[in-house]
Amino acid sequence: MSFAEDRFNEECAVFGIFGHADAGALTVLGLHALQHRGQEAAGIVTYDGIQFIAERHPGLVGDVFGKNSAHAQKLKGTQAVGHTRYSTTGGSVARNIQPMFADLAGGGIAIAHNGNLTNARALRAELVREGAIFQSTSDTETIIHLMARSTYNPVVDRLVGALKQITGAYSLVALTGRKLIGARDPFGVRPLVLGQLDGAPVLASETCALDIIGADLVRDVEPGEIIVATRDGIESFFPFKPRPQRFCIFEYVYFARPDSTVEGRNVYEARKRIGEELAREAPVAADIVIPVPDSGVPAALGYAAESGIPFELGIIRNHYVGRTFIEPSDRIRHLGVKLKHNPNGAMLKGKRVVLVDDSIVRGTTSKKIVEMVRDAGAAEVHFRIASPPTTNSCFYGVDTPNEEELLAHAMTVEEMRLHIKADSLAFVSIDGLYRATGQARRDPAHPQFCDACFSGDYPIELSDIAGGRKDAQLSLLAEVA
Ligand code: SF4
Repeated sequence: MSFAEDRFNEECAVFGIFGHADAGALTVLGLHALQHRGQEAAGIVTYDGIQFIAERHPGLVGDVFGKNSAHAQKLKGTQAVGHTRYSTTGGSVARNIQPMFADLAGGGIAIAHNGNLTNARALRAELVREGAIFQSTSDTETIIHLMARSTYNPVVDRLVGALKQITGAYSLVALTGRKLIGARDPFGVRPLVLGQLDGAPVLASETCALDIIGADLVRDVEPGEIIVATRDGIESFFPFKPRPQRFCIFEYVYFARPDSTVEGRNVYEARKRIGEELAREAPVAADIVIPVPDSGVPAALGYAAESGIPFELGIIRNHYVGRTFIEPSDRIRHLGVKLKHNPNGAMLKGKRVVLVDDSIVRGTTSKKIVEMVRDAGAAEVHFRIASPPTTNSCFYGVDTPNEEELLAHAMTVEEMRLHIKADSLAFVSIDGLYRATGQARRDPAHPQFCDACFSGDYPIELSDIAGGRKDAQLSLLAEVA
């Protein structure tokens, strides 16, 4: 199992720009900044005034659209939408690469989507019964089929009509010949921001994509809001029944880039505050605080600042080990986690170490890292986790293992400590996590975020789940019969 596979992985990012001479190239840059949200495939659709041009390929953004890329050179036009996709399965990648494109009665439309529909299985079965022929297993295609069957005429009405039939978490961008459209689900689970560059509206999953192109942040797209950008300006609609806002709190723990500001909070600052909460809730006598790089760094800095224990880089990350790295032989395969992380022995020898990571998923990597730090000479290893125990799977657009595979689902904290062989193990509390985002605590009657992977409190009905079988929920990644 690779390091990436023992993480919750964000499945997608979206980007869109309207009315800019460099729309294609700017979308390449925007997707490059959003690479952390999806590394399996990248796609861009532009409109050149006459036709749509679609380039969708497996690989990293730099591989697909990098310097001298023939794909990038084809992206003519002043408006574009783009997408990066994460997937754990290779077989279904090509036909699921977004943005998806369709010729509807009123003209062509390209749609890119981040999230997961929770009634897609039922909708899809109904559409297939009515004669729809699906080309992919992606939720996005379900939205397109619903739009195609709509009796409304304007494309925005068709989209709203389709979105009113679906439940789930989504942030999407859509491009027609005359419009760039952005939409966020009524609970606002996944992020989407509106920016502006040289007067051109920009939509992106995170602000880091605005930064890379020099665009200004205008604001977050509101939960349940539809933004429509045309040559005449921007219009905003709220066509859905208002719902309580439940932004994904895991964006602050791990998914979003630390230099992004989501829902008005800088991610790096939030992560540092989680580390401070952790130090207050789970203090320990130790000589150094070290992060599991890179995602544990801000929380470890916060822990060190609050506890007064020095922060050190006790583990060095090799940034050049990609997801496609092929271990050259069985003989060295056992080196495992050291391909990506190497202990800084001189720093660790004889020390009582506080080791900080963002989360424990299956526990496979955690166990190896604790062992690695101990083997490098640490006298004690105290593991501190900058999120509560992940006891439940996510069905809102994040690739997670089945519940049974989550270590915290099967074990108590003490059992987990014994399993990963740490001297002590502690997780930040759910109230501590909320405090780090500026809330007083989690209000059980009205939680301010989606925190279902910690609490089991799913804000959006999982209607594809039959008889309590959560594995019956359609996933973006699932093959569908
Ligand atoms: Fe985020 Fe967890 Fe909710 Fe999924 S279940 S949206 S990862 S908080």
